[in-house]
Amino acid sequence: MTKLALAFDLGGTELRGALVERDGAVAARVSAPTMAGAGSEAVIGQIIALAGTLLAEHPQAKVAGIGMCAPGPLDPKAGIVIGPPTLAGWHDVPLIDILSRQFGLPVRLENDANAAALGEWRFGAGRGSGSLVFVTVSTGIGGGVVADGHIYHGRRGLAAEIGHMTITGEGDRCFCGAVGCFEAVASGTALGRRATRLTAPGDGSLLRRLSGDGDVSARHVVEAARAGDVNALELVDAEAKWLGIGFTNLLHLYSPELIVMGGGLANGFDLLAPGIRATIEQRAMPAYRDVPIVPAELGDRAGLIGAASLILWEGEPGAPLAIAQDEDSGPSKRADAREANHG
Ligand SMILES: [Zn+2]
Repeated sequence: MTKLALAFDLGGTELRGALVERDGAVAARVSAPTMAGAGSEAVIGQIIALAGTLLAEHPQAKVAGIGMCAPGPLDPKAGIVIGPPTLAGWHDVPLIDILSRQFGLPVRLENDANAAALGEWRFGAGRGSGSLVFVTVSTGIGGGVVADGHIYHGRRGLAAEIGHMTITGEGDRCFCGAVGCFEAVASGTALGRRATRLTAPGDGSLLRRLSGDGDVSARHVVEAARAGDVNALELVDAEAKWLGIGFTNLLHLYSPELIVMGGGLANGFDLLAPGIRATIEQRAMPAYRDVPIVPAELGDRAGLIGAASLILWEGEPGAPLAIAQDEDSGPSKRADAREANHG
């Protein structure tokens, strides 16, 4: 059997685990609702239990190590989860130490957005590029930067917290306490909030009908925009403008070969893309305007696959994947394999 990595993606609501092959194929997947309020020991117990399930299903698996991703802030080098807002009771948890003692295997830890960036870079929308910025737009906004063939970590691994770059001086307060963060104005949550304020329960608008007269979510806005609803189309325009402003900053800062947009709002990528492009045309300096903005390809597997690659591709840049493709299956067959692994 080929060499595999155990991979875990620890989220505030869901804990996902997988056995992943070197080419990014997912051999097995499990998940459980994260016991996020129960503290770190309970959640680490869940990780150990899920590992047991995966290994019991694949007793022949030759596991090279464990790749783990978790919400920031975390220190990937020291292997410490510093204190994510979505996980109660996690303060400076030495996760690499704990898991490597438990399993007797090498363990690598990465910020979840960085791991997803790695996944998309090595196996998804960014294959073959030397640099990219991955932006995930959903409840919040997160990101990861691959610069010149490496994840850009910065001091304590805290770089690329792009959701909290300030892009305006006003608006709703971000959960981080500041005003005008990219996340506070351009996340799916912000879009839903704008839609909720624009409408009222019982007003008969499509947005409120879709939401059952409750709070309107970003998903409802995308759905209504697809149906041609004027309110929703205006909201999408405004959202695309904010995303375009944030992306323009990323282009100027990192000069990536492409920007990959993932997260829940990527479901509306086709609707948002023209407005994002128009804003970049307006705001970016000419040399940056032709950079492709593309949707992510790996969905919710990006973090798992990226985390596994911390073990299976350790010390290697992302570019060799292009060589691996030439040698064996080629891009189209790889895409088929990804489809097949979807279920
Ligand atoms: Zn913020």
